[in-house]
Amino acid sequence: WDETVEIAIIGSGFAGLAAGIEAARQGCKSVTIFEKMPVFGGNSAINGGLFAAPQTPMQKEQGVEDSVERMVNDQLKAGRGIADEALLRHVASHAMEALQMTIDAGAEFHPYLQQLGGHSVPRTYQTTVSCGAGITQPLLHECRKVGVNMVSRTKFNGFILDDAGKVVGVRLNKGYYFEDEDAGVEKEINVRATRGVIMATGGFAQNVDLRMAQDPTLTAEVGCTNAKGATGEGMFEMFRLGAIPVHMAHIQSGPWASPDEGGFGYVSNYSIFNFPHSIAVNRMTGKRFMNEIADRKTRADAELACRDAEGNPLPPIMITSYEHAKQHPNCKKVLKYGVGWKFDSLEDLAKHFDVPLKPLKEQVEEYNGYVKSGNDEQFGKNMGKAKGKYLKAPFTVVRLWPKVHYCQGGVQINTKAEVKDSFTGKRIEGLYAAGEVAGGMHGVSRLGSCSIPDCMVMGMTAARSIMGA
Ligand code: ADP
Repeated sequence: WDETVEIAIIGSGFAGLAAGIEAARQGCKSVTIFEKMPVFGGNSAINGGLFAAPQTPMQKEQGVEDSVERMVNDQLKAGRGIADEALLRHVASHAMEALQMTIDAGAEFHPYLQQLGGHSVPRTYQTTVSCGAGITQPLLHECRKVGVNMVSRTKFNGFILDDAGKVVGVRLNKGYYFEDEDAGVEKEINVRATRGVIMATGGFAQNVDLRMAQDPTLTAEVGCTNAKGATGEGMFEMFRLGAIPVHMAHIQSGPWASPDEGGFGYVSNYSIFNFPHSIAVNRMTGKRFMNEIADRKTRADAELACRDAEGNPLPPIMITSYEHAKQHPNCKKVLKYGVGWKFDSLEDLAKHFDVPLKPLKEQVEEYNGYVKSGNDEQFGKNMGKAKGKYLKAPFTVVRLWPKVHYCQGGVQINTKAEVKDSFTGKRIEGLYAAGEVAGGMHGVSRLGSCSIPDCMVMGMTAARSIMGA
């Protein structure tokens, strides 16, 4: 052995950081997070910073009635019959604890709740910086404060087992340069983990071969919101040990993304915030084509079906009253960087995007009728958050087209974050997995803002399981 720790955590996203903090709080004296990239925070640092939890202080303040069961039911619906109810309930039951961990560490949230697609009530907090770094940075700081050792540019390469097949350590490449595979590595080291190994290596959305093996339409040309390190090799090593792959083909695309910018960009958070009081319009017909706050899969599929007369993709547009759009901090940037447009009239808007004006005008009037009545007769959208928010000029517009965002598949875990062995049917001793690397929890479609609680609660759970808490 080159080094010995009590707990080795691989990956420094939400799951790894929460696991590290909880392990230290539970009394672990020697816990190290190994991260292959030069910076910590993973894909988590560049996500939307949206956090769903039931029965929060903000819900109480605002009189929103919610419960663990209600949140679980919303998620089960989106999971279309194959989500893991026990895992969902475990996470929803502990989501408030995880939210508290971020607040205690110094995370700051907007003073309002959002109602994201598929959620039956407003239950989503968002960091004031409107991205995940508003959580990973405070958690990193907290890790250092509680004595978690953090090592970057160190890539996990495989497990070390004892004669009984228990995971007792990891093989790592120290001095790893993701940016330059040919640079080689400084040194290969074997690290012994006396209490256990927690795999928190995230998803595989950036592994084009693997995602195309599941869904051939997800070619390299399809946009992706993820950090470059989301390549899945940690997950594969667990499969080699016997871990069970679940739901690998359920790869989620974000329906709020824009084809006019790279990655998550500015538009994603802007449109997530604005969907409840906006309309999404098919440019061929001038009509709405979906419930703007349906679950992500429903919306992504509906957008992908928007085509021109030749059948080529024709990104639909989201139309918002500027009056409401400007409430979101990204609105200025969206307009400034040319990934959104502002129009004084529907005529100008229709001309710019080549949308038939008459049906568009009728659509806007019809929709305003739904705002008034509170009943969306076209798509059954929950109009609660659209109350009083009529569509009127001036308008802002962004284009929409789905980008690969999240892998619902991964290794199967239980509510203790243990990994099941497909050969023996028992758990793989010494091994725990948390976060996006684990699969099956959400089924067909994960609801927005449910990933951070998933990652953090399962990271905390892994640490507690190891420490016998
Ligand atoms: P989650 O949201 O599930 O916590 P993230 O994608 O935010 O996942 O974080 C996973 C982290 O794991 C990323 O920072 C990524 O660079 C890191 N990682 C992935 N594979 C390896 C590996 N083989 N060795 C070390 N770190 C890894």
